[in-house]
Amino acid sequence: MHVIVCVKQVPDTTEVRVDPETNTLIREGVPSIINPYDAHAVEAAVSLKEEYGGKVTVISMGPPQAEEVMRRSIAIGADEGILLSDRNFAGSDTLATSYILAKGIKRLAEREPVDLILCGKQAIDGDTAQVGPGIAVRLNIPQLTYVMKIESVDIENREIIVHRKLEDKRVRAACKLPVLLTVVKDINEIRYASLPNLIKSARYKPNIWSQKELELDIQQIGLKGSPTSVSKIFAPPQRGKGEIIPGGQDSPDEAAGLLVQKLLITKIIANK
Ligand SMILES: Cc1cc2nc3c(=O)[nH]c(=O)nc-3n(C[C@H](O)[C@H](O)[C@H](O)COP(=O)(O)OP(=O)(O)OC[C@H]3O[C@@H](n4cnc5c(N)ncnc54)[C@H](O)[C@@H]3O)c2cc1C
Repeated sequence: MHVIVCVKQVPDTTEVRVDPETNTLIREGVPSIINPYDAHAVEAAVSLKEEYGGKVTVISMGPPQAEEVMRRSIAIGADEGILLSDRNFAGSDTLATSYILAKGIKRLAEREPVDLILCGKQAIDGDTAQVGPGIAVRLNIPQLTYVMKIESVDIENREIIVHRKLEDKRVRAACKLPVLLTVVKDINEIRYASLPNLIKSARYKPNIWSQKELELDIQQIGLKGSPTSVSKIFAPPQRGKGEIIPGGQDSPDEAAGLLVQKLLITKIIANK
């Protein structure tokens, strides 16, 4: 089974600071890490390889320093890394990013058929959760999002069964391969890297593919190929402190009465 995992390098913080003038990320002084959801996706792929055999390839679109997330993936147990890197990719939104990644995956699939594509639920900087579904649409394959468990893979019948974590329910779904899954953190615990994998990862150099090698349409990549423009980014105003109304602990009726009184006084409701 050949599993591809999309991994993104992100700033090591969920509180992304944005330049108010340019609306771009302030990366100075912020170390980079593998997107945490993507590390869980790599772990899931490596576990599948251990159970069913095969190979795990990680793919990333980013600047040359994104090599680091490839090395982190190799340390977890991935076999190969492909970095899609080219100055022309800069400024890509999710539409352009999914185009570039889908082209990279297609090229990989020509070399070796792909059974499963794993992505994180979302990236902790852009936070859109659009890239995984975007890749699936571009490759014309099904997608299952918010996967919290891979129950089984039937390689002979080319079918996978997964559990999806939705807000108020769980969904058990079966799907034919190839399929794209986006995963949540509940899917697994990430292992500590073994010594051989650590040694391999320290020396690892991924293959780098550029725009020319991928034969990409220049109109669909970078700023030119990105219809989204982020006009303003701001933190929402902090909510005021809650108020605890004293009394009514032992009687729901009394508590409801006190609450109604408060709502009347503050004119949130009116007495008719
Ligand atoms: C504050 C902010 C707001 C933004 N808002 C928008 C917006 O509204 N619309 C828009 O189109 N773009 C937006 N962008 C740009 C967006 O960050 C890029 O398009 C980015 O490359 C992908 O989007 P994402 O980070 O939201 O990824 P998500 O879609 O959240 O990522 C989901 C998964 O896709 C995979 N993935 C994503 N990017 C890569 C990559 N480069 N390489 C490999 N795998 C990857 C990973 O598996 C990841 O877990 C915004 C950027 C910032 C900083």
